[in-house]
Amino acid sequence: QSSLKSNLIREETIKPYWGKRKRESHKGTYGHVLVLGGSLGMTGAVSMAAYAALRAGAGLVTAAVPESLLPIVAGFRPEIMTVPLAETGKAAIAVEALPAIENLLGAVSVCAVGCGMSRYLEAKAIMNFILEKAGVPLVIDADGINALAEDISILKNRQVPVVLTPHPGEMARLLQKSIKEVQADRVEIARSFAVDWNVTLVLKGNKTVVAMPSGDVYVNLTGNPGMATAGSGDVLCGIISGFIAQGLNPQMAAVAGVYVHGRAGDLASMAKGERGLIALDLVEWLPEVLRQME
Ligand code: AMP
Ligand code: MG
Repeated sequence: QSSLKSNLIREETIKPYWGKRKRESHKGTYGHVLVLGGSLGMTGAVSMAAYAALRAGAGLVTAAVPESLLPIVAGFRPEIMTVPLAETGKAAIAVEALPAIENLLGAVSVCAVGCGMSRYLEAKAIMNFILEKAGVPLVIDADGINALAEDISILKNRQVPVVLTPHPGEMARLLQKSIKEVQADRVEIARSFAVDWNVTLVLKGNKTVVAMPSGDVYVNLTGNPGMATAGSGDVLCGIISGFIAQGLNPQMAAVAGVYVHGRAGDLASMAKGERGLIALDLVEWLPEVLRQME
């Protein structure tokens, strides 16, 4: 029975990969996260992913966003660097931004793409370009996944590790199945996708499943329904990217990210209760989780 072969994620699962910060180090040591996304009405997603990447320990974080949105993201946290991108009429990333994106990809350690990107015609061409040009690991979330769902074969045109973080709705769209079908067989669906497409697949929700290209599967038990709130997934995307920036391999970064994200949710719910919990509470509690794990 293959479903018996899934591993529960525990602190000990992650510990062997958990390096300490070295005295002889500087911000470059801890990597540079590029966050790509945002569109009119969805500036928070990029801001929260970028902020979460910083709180996860990345040395530098740059958010590259449609130019008219730049002041909003830049004003959210002064630690986030920002780069303006050419934009469509609805302030989404335009294809004219692709040369600038290529330059940025050459200057960072990892790229998180898709948060708040919105669903529009050019999104597929943008994702295709990023997959083709990237020389660093990619964490693809939200509308980045929705763009892949238009033509999943573009996932083949790349040389770099990819982590995909769909919620059940996005997973259903990717597979052209119903959410009910996805939820009925979460472990096997995640496993076969990860193997077939050679990606790390994070199928989110209660008991998030992390499936590796090898077919190994990890199941997470941290977290609570208080995390079913806007922006929660953007925070996860930022955390995983922040861990990759620091040198964790993308597969273990996904496992560790899912675990600490849930544990931050559990601390936040102890402080505020599940009902009142919102996504930035996860980021506020993340440092305490990381401190406990030192
Ligand atoms: P998203 O839908 O993209 O905002 O992602 C939601 C995030 O919250 C994912 O990391 C989910 O695993 C987490 N989450 C949502 N609902 C629950 C739940 N009932 N129990 C545990 N985690 C949850
Ligand atoms: Mg999401």
